[in-house]
Amino acid sequence: MASTTGLADLAREASGCTLCPLSEGRTQVVFGVGDAGADLLFVGEAPGRDEDLQGEPFVGRSGKLLDRLMAEELGIDRSRCYIANVVKCRPPDNRDPKPAEIAACRPYLAGQIDLIRPVVVVTLGNFATKLLLDTDQGITRLRGAAYPFGDAHLVPTFHPAAALRSGGMVVAQMRSDLVRAKELLGWAA
Ligand code: URA
Repeated sequence: MASTTGLADLAREASGCTLCPLSEGRTQVVFGVGDAGADLLFVGEAPGRDEDLQGEPFVGRSGKLLDRLMAEELGIDRSRCYIANVVKCRPPDNRDPKPAEIAACRPYLAGQIDLIRPVVVVTLGNFATKLLLDTDQGITRLRGAAYPFGDAHLVPTFHPAAALRSGGMVVAQMRSDLVRAKELLGWAA
């Protein structure tokens, strides 16, 4: 059973966070969205402009692709999972998050994982994958398999922005990673 109260408390705490300089440029903290009791957790990189303005992860172009792949491969919409990012505030000009920013924000993601207790974590791209698997290996090497993650399974896949840049092959690989997640969730027919 997930703790909705715990997650709401953590979100409230995060909303006033000043642990790193990203707090100075944000419109708002983008904590996460979805079902606090979800079996499936997606972890992206950082909010972009649209997310910073709307306060919800993956609402821009990458998010539209994520929503589509979720619907087509898993048969769900975002209310049936939880979506979070490695860092909760938008880096300026959409630059990569810095190691110190990732470290400062890490307890929020760790808290989300502890409270939601997902069965499967799908990491989207290098930042989430390297952080949660504690590795320097890149996503291209790591994807295509599932890894033990506490009591859960971790399924690394590409970031949807990479799919938007690179096209069909990357999308096909993301689809097959989502099928792996579906099987581990016990959702496969
Ligand atoms: N990219 C991310 O990694 N996260 C978002 O929320 C949006 C775009």
